[in-house]
Amino acid sequence: MTSFEPTAEFAAQLDAQDPLRDFRHQFHIPPGPDGQDSIYLCGNSLGLQPKTARAAVERQMQNWQELAVEGHFRGDTPWMTYHERLEQATAHIVGAQPLEVTVMNNLTTNLHLLLVSFYQPTPTRYKVLMEGGAFPSDQYALETQVQMRGFRPDDAIVELVPRPGEHTLRTEDIVAKIAELGDSLCTIIMGGINYYTGQVYDMAAITQAGHAVGARVGFDLAHAAGNIPLQLHDWDVDFACWCSYKYLNSGPGGVSGAFVHERFADQPELLRLAGWWGYDEKERFKMKKGFRPMRGAAGWQLSNGAVLTLAAHEAALNIHEAAGGMVALRRKSEQLTAYLEFLIRGLALPAGTLEIITPQDPAARGCQLSILVQKNGRQLFDYLMSKGIIGDWREPNVIRLAPVPLYNSFQDVQRVGAALAEWAGRE
Ligand SMILES: *Cc1c(COP(=O)(O)O)cnc(C)c1O
Repeated sequence: MTSFEPTAEFAAQLDAQDPLRDFRHQFHIPPGPDGQDSIYLCGNSLGLQPKTARAAVERQMQNWQELAVEGHFRGDTPWMTYHERLEQATAHIVGAQPLEVTVMNNLTTNLHLLLVSFYQPTPTRYKVLMEGGAFPSDQYALETQVQMRGFRPDDAIVELVPRPGEHTLRTEDIVAKIAELGDSLCTIIMGGINYYTGQVYDMAAITQAGHAVGARVGFDLAHAAGNIPLQLHDWDVDFACWCSYKYLNSGPGGVSGAFVHERFADQPELLRLAGWWGYDEKERFKMKKGFRPMRGAAGWQLSNGAVLTLAAHEAALNIHEAAGGMVALRRKSEQLTAYLEFLIRGLALPAGTLEIITPQDPAARGCQLSILVQKNGRQLFDYLMSKGIIGDWREPNVIRLAPVPLYNSFQDVQRVGAALAEWAGRE
């Protein structure tokens, strides 16, 4: 590992050596209070706007204006098949075959759709395993899925919690819980990265353990897609979904991704909630009775594509691909986050004032660091905002800072360190 220094000169030097340094110019960086670029460390919540996004959306507005209904079939990007333009890049993001992914709907919708297929409980196998303190939408989705199947959430949902005094889960404990649940375990659904702590779960190990007891295994990759390299196909994951507006920079409420492993590609009988866009493409417009799905993840589509948001998503994915994909991004990401960690650990503060609850092991985290602030956390957060440093605040006492390799620089991180040092000097 590089040995770091807290100085602006050192950070400038790291930036000069960074092969991805120019990618930040492809994004609109909102101004801070002083009119200069803010330091945007909130890509875990909403990624920045690619400068190419507006033109991509306007092009489809133009097609709509000039072609109207014909836009479905004409022009250089016919809407009928627009979603297919995103398949390849999407497959790269999550480590899948193109057949295994599709882009549709929003995240919570996709989570529900996939649970319909992959949470099919029986009177004896009906438990769901998830991480305690999962993102609320995921909790509500599970709660209501369980009820819909006639079970009680407090009986069917099993939550994993850290050991006393610890903030994150140990893989050995997750695997032991899976083995303990055994034949009663129907489905495992966890974040790929926990939104609060920033912990990466060992998806390969969890999938293997789940399959060993006959359970289905899925992941909500909202905080993982575009943040860490993923190998969903090789890890043998059954299903997954993610949003495009966090690390994939595709705009507020943008379309979501879904993954269904290849081994379900040709199982038309697999229960699902269907719509016409999931119907076999060749026969779709014959408007026949009786649902016959497309092969692969496309067979879970409901509706014709949301072209305006797909266009923004495509523009963002093109930047990802141009940057060399997750391998190149991850290399820089590990360094950026390690630098932020170095600066925080170097603050002259009484022990425990700021506690990084994200794992220290780079393999067990993405770019985000979650900082537990013992007291006056909200004031520290507001202080950072006043300095043009945009992170986010999560009740009751955590500040999340996510340096994103596509548009954050080492100098950004250095300035955060300097601001924190100034604050620490006053504490
Ligand atoms: C961001 C996020 C969501 C948001 O769901 P939407 O349906 O896109 O509003 C859900 N789950 C997790 C884990 C998230 O991080």
